[in-house]
Amino acid sequence: MEFNFFTFIFLFAILTSVLALLWLNFRQDKAIKISFNEVPEDFKETITLEDHQKAGHYTQAKLLVNHFEIIFSTIVLLIWTLGGAMNWLDFFWQERISSPIWLGTVFILSIMFIASFIDLPFSIYRNFILEERFGFNRMTIKTFATDLIKELVLTLALGLPLIYAILYLMNLSAIGDYWWIYVWAILSLFTITMMWIYPTFIAPIFNKFKPLENNSLRNRIDNLLERTGFGSDGIFVMDGSKRSSHGNAYFTGIGRNKRIVFFDTLLKGMEDEEIEAILAHELGHFHHKHVRQRIISSFIFSLVSLALLGYLIKQVWFFHGLGISNPSSHTALVLFSLTLPVFSFFITPISNLISRKHEFQADAFAASHTDANDLISSLTKLYRENSSTLSPDKYYSAFHDSHPSAILRIARLQ
Ligand SMILES: [Zn+2]
Repeated sequence: MEFNFFTFIFLFAILTSVLALLWLNFRQDKAIKISFNEVPEDFKETITLEDHQKAGHYTQAKLLVNHFEIIFSTIVLLIWTLGGAMNWLDFFWQERISSPIWLGTVFILSIMFIASFIDLPFSIYRNFILEERFGFNRMTIKTFATDLIKELVLTLALGLPLIYAILYLMNLSAIGDYWWIYVWAILSLFTITMMWIYPTFIAPIFNKFKPLENNSLRNRIDNLLERTGFGSDGIFVMDGSKRSSHGNAYFTGIGRNKRIVFFDTLLKGMEDEEIEAILAHELGHFHHKHVRQRIISSFIFSLVSLALLGYLIKQVWFFHGLGISNPSSHTALVLFSLTLPVFSFFITPISNLISRKHEFQADAFAASHTDANDLISSLTKLYRENSSTLSPDKYYSAFHDSHPSAILRIARLQ
């Protein structure tokens, strides 16, 4: 294999991102150690030292697994590319499949399956050892295995036609160099369709959804929806307790097909007015059109990325520099999707910065339509029940966190 200058750029980007991630983890670990024996001032009355220390241990345990994951996934990436594994797999299928589109489809699917197989031990460790140790795991081996099978079937049912269509367009001589615009259109259409069908067709494959039953709460919520002018497919309760005792609430779907979903584990232990405040926060995201902004920016990002791929696919140095000797549409796609995260790593903090700004806006919306104190007490409970740390490192948080820290959010609400 002939490596080139691009190989060095790639290695340099990997090295920088790995060192940055490990350094941030190290800082986070240190921040937790420093605050270990004292509950932060604002939480002295609501969080016990015992809960605070459990959150500290939990965060540290997650960081340790993450250390291994960062190093392990980097080694795997290097084996796929510079190590020649992907090149070998490409030749393996070339000898067996003659149609370039089918060859590409099978190649991409086999890489996806091998990658998820490699990830399996981490997933098992996380659910059955780490989460179990802190009392959060509710998943049985049976649920874990059925989830895997369902994901496999879904990937084949949805992924196979999509990959085939993309490779078909890439190999279509009639559209020539502008294939990436067509591929972008197909991908965007696919994303929108997925968002549309997700709440009613995909999510129920994994969980049960029931309309919210509690009557006094129902009244409160209907009132709030009326006050804020929100039209939706309904408010649902999901059996999150099937897998984990972590609680959450989210907003899903688009157009009239949108839903607000509460985990059953979140509703347990919350007062009606606290749930109303959480809902008001979610409605704040809707009111400020955050979902729409996210979709539009992801479409712009994918258009720019595909245009870049349209350029790279014609450059031999791109393939040779990453360990592929025989340039093709399918190897370009895989190389690109494997290496893009290494480079886009550097824009993660920007996307999280915008996300945190959105969280503040949603909090402000909730505070103007419900009592801010209810949101404060529900957030405090959420942090306590999920053992989320109250004292993150500021650099770690700025880089990784899509939500502002509890202290900042509560300070703003006050
Ligand atoms: Zn939010």
